Parts: sequence; C-alpha cells; structure tokens
Amino acid sequence: MTRRGRFAPTPSGLLHIGNAFTALSAWLQMRQAGGEFVLRVEDIDTARSRADLAERQLEDLQWLGIDWDEGPRKGGAYAPYEQSGRMPLYEAALDRLSQNGRIYPCYCSRSDLARVASAPHGLSSEGGAYPGLCRELSEEERREKAALKPPATRFMMAQRPVTFSDGWAGEVTFADDAVSDFVVKRADGMYSYQLAVTVDDAAMGITDVLRGADLLDSTPRQLALYEALGLTAPSFTHVPLLVDANGERLSKRDHSITLSSLRDSGMTPEQLVGVLACAAGWIDRPTPLAPADLIPHFRPINEEGARDRFTLTDSLWRLLLSAT
Ligand code: GLU
Repeated sequence: MTRRGRFAPTPSGLLHIGNAFTALSAWLQMRQAGGEFVLRVEDIDTARSRADLAERQLEDLQWLGIDWDEGPRKGGAYAPYEQSGRMPLYEAALDRLSQNGRIYPCYCSRSDLARVASAPHGLSSEGGAYPGLCRELSEEERREKAALKPPATRFMMAQRPVTFSDGWAGEVTFADDAVSDFVVKRADGMYSYQLAVTVDDAAMGITDVLRGADLLDSTPRQLALYEALGLTAPSFTHVPLLVDANGERLSKRDHSITLSSLRDSGMTPEQLVGVLACAAGWIDRPTPLAPADLIPHFRPINEEGARDRFTLTDSLWRLLLSAT
C-alpha cells in the first residue's frame, strides 16, 4: 500500500518557521518512504481564514521547495482540498455519529462552564474538561433549553484511558478524566477542527499524520472519532516544537519570523532549510540545502541518536536574524 502523508495549514496567518519545520518534516517523511504528499487547506473556521492568506501559504511552501502530489493548484482524486468545500462530508459524519448515539446537544455557555470550578483540568488545546452537564438531560429539559438558545453538538467520549503509539513520543496514555466530551459542531453551525480533520484524513486515505507536538493531545479525540465512525486510523507522529536556546517555545515575537519576511530579506530557501535541519540534528552544520538533499538525512522516528528537542541555538538564531 502506498503511504500517504499531508500538511494541513490553517490560512489564518502567514507561515512562520515553526510551520515550515512541520511541513518540511511531513514532506520528508513521505519522500523518504516513496509515498504521496497531500496539501489540504484547513479553512473551516471562516471567521479566521482568508483566501489571500491561503494563496500566500502555497507560495511560501513552493518557495521553500516543498511540492505536493495532490492539493490546491494541482487537483487530485480527493478534491476539493479546501475544507470550506467539504461540508457535506462533515454533515454525513455527524449523521452517522447521531445514528450511533454518540453525540448530544449542549446548551452550556462559556460562562456556565467557567462557573464549574471543580472541573478537572482538560487538554491544553481546548481548555478545561467538560463536566458533562448536558449529557444526561431529559427530553423536557432539552426542549426548555432549546427554546432559549441553539445548542452546540458534543461527542461523547468513553470514560476510559486512551493509549496509542506515537512515532516520536512512543507509547502515550491519556487518563480517562483527561479527555472529556468535546464539541464537534458549534452553536453557530461551524464544524470543529477535530471532526473535520478526522473525516478528511480518512476520506483522503492518509496513512501517516506527522504534525507538531502541540497537537498530541488532540489525538485521543481523533482516535475516538475514527472508532465511532468505523474508520481506520492513520499512524501519528508528533515532532517536537522548535525551542530557543533556553528551551522555551518560540514566542509570539519569534513566530513573527515568517517565511515571507525571510524571503523579502534575501534569505534563500536553502539557507532556511539548512538552519531547520541543523536544529533537528539531521545535519551537523547549517549548510544550505534543498529539501530533496535532506531525504537521506531525515529521521522519521525518535531513534537512538536523534534529539529529543529541536533547538534553535543562538548561532542558528543569528543566521535567521541576520537575514531579517
Ligand atoms: N490545521 C491545523 C493547524 O494548522 C493542523 C491540523 C493537523 O495537522 O492535524 O494547526
């Protein structure tokens, strides 16, 4: 079976060096494996996404030297590759979850949830755990609440730990109280990232999801959706986020180092690729290289000798900053 990977940026801003690193890693994973690489525009959040930014992101990826076998500007068997054009698939998935009794209407507002002080801590990506207030409402209670406001739709997590094997982190377990019922469709009608990404990765035949470690805690939710929808889950690899010399995650200010700003300052894509590959430990020195030159050097898993964090040392920073 041909392996298929993807990069799936949200066009709510310009790509920064962290995005470039993830894109490069996902691309290298497939090019090394002789697989296919898909690009998908995750513009489901219409309030945050902009078509002009999606175009800029594609240009920046091309500038970097990353190509895709299917996606925007290219087409492919699983078009459209923009989530905004894929609503019927999300609707169908929601119907299926409803038939299986896995979703329920939730009338809680943000302030309702903030008041429930005893809620255990939830996943970092989606705030506090949902205390299940609307899970067991009677039909009558639902009717009363529905008269006051339209509900969101929540997916019911089974109350048991989720364990999976991550390509980078190894075996990962989320305790049963760490992952609570989560929103799959907001009250304003927008489908959630968790639902859309699961439906799309399955529909596009993605076998390998490689993304940043900040999305590790989304994975138990997505695995639960795969199971509830009767879909086969891909393998997951969450690569470490780039950190600075003090081990701190790149700050907002550092994130503003966009590919566009580097390009405008005269940095070449090969110079940037060299810096990123050196931070990851794939090469010893930040020698300018094209992405394709890295194919033999890429380490797809956290094997012996690989770095457990990817550090932009002061000297690598200087290379970037001297360009901006
Ligand atoms: N669209 C998501 C983001 O830009 C990435 C989704 C994923 O890789 O699962 O953060």
